[in-house]
Amino acid sequence: MKATLTVLGSGTSMGVPTIGCDCAVCHSPDPHDRRTRPSVMIEYEGKTVLIDTTPDFREQAIREQIRSLDAVLYTHTHADHILGIDDLRPLSFHRRGKIPLYARPEAAEFLQSMFRYIFDADYKYGGIAQVEMHNIKGSVELFGARFEPVTVLHGDQEIIGFRFGSAAYLTDFSEIPEASFAQLKDLDILFLDALRHKPHPTHSTVENSLRIVDRVKAQRAFFTHICHDLPHDATNASLPPHVRLSYDGMKLEFEI
Ligand SMILES: [Zn+2]
Ligand SMILES: [Zn+2]
Repeated sequence: MKATLTVLGSGTSMGVPTIGCDCAVCHSPDPHDRRTRPSVMIEYEGKTVLIDTTPDFREQAIREQIRSLDAVLYTHTHADHILGIDDLRPLSFHRRGKIPLYARPEAAEFLQSMFRYIFDADYKYGGIAQVEMHNIKGSVELFGARFEPVTVLHGDQEIIGFRFGSAAYLTDFSEIPEASFAQLKDLDILFLDALRHKPHPTHSTVENSLRIVDRVKAQRAFFTHICHDLPHDATNASLPPHVRLSYDGMKLEFEI
């Protein structure tokens, strides 16, 4: 079936512009150089699925006029991927039943302790997000589509990305383990971490991610988790035509 992917945010953990930074990209007039924290939204069959809830989720949801939400999948529990969880409140009040959240067991436990008030049945003050946590143990079936976790290495930590239909979303990795490549065959769309050119202990570089795109032979590839080292236009001009920097608000059609 047909699906639309919307890039809610394409930026690294500190966002671009970065607070207090005087660099050219942080002061660029090009709206493509304004990058909120990394997240995507997938819509199909009238359903809306989110990957991660960033500290910028409120702004992203208003920008994209999100009116309903049916599920959230979490890649890992770093602050730039989870801190917007409280802003699920308005969307959770306007639906029947709680919003299901999906995370690997250790990530689910972390979220439940970090945001204890949200999951506390005895919380007295009201007005909390109506959500319920589910453990990701294998593939997650959501409204007729399958979201398969893809293990990646974020520094020395194992976290996940997702394969869904002809697309995959791999934010935050420095390395893709050999065993995960089997899940990256026949991709129409591959989203992958490309922080900058300079090596980083927990993130992929433009050069490393170009090698991965070549290896898996994705039809189209889009970089995300981009820092202020990469100006949008100039970087795109240096990339092969089937590889682009993603940007906030970018929309792509694909088969799920
Ligand atoms: Zn991140
Ligand atoms: Zn900067």
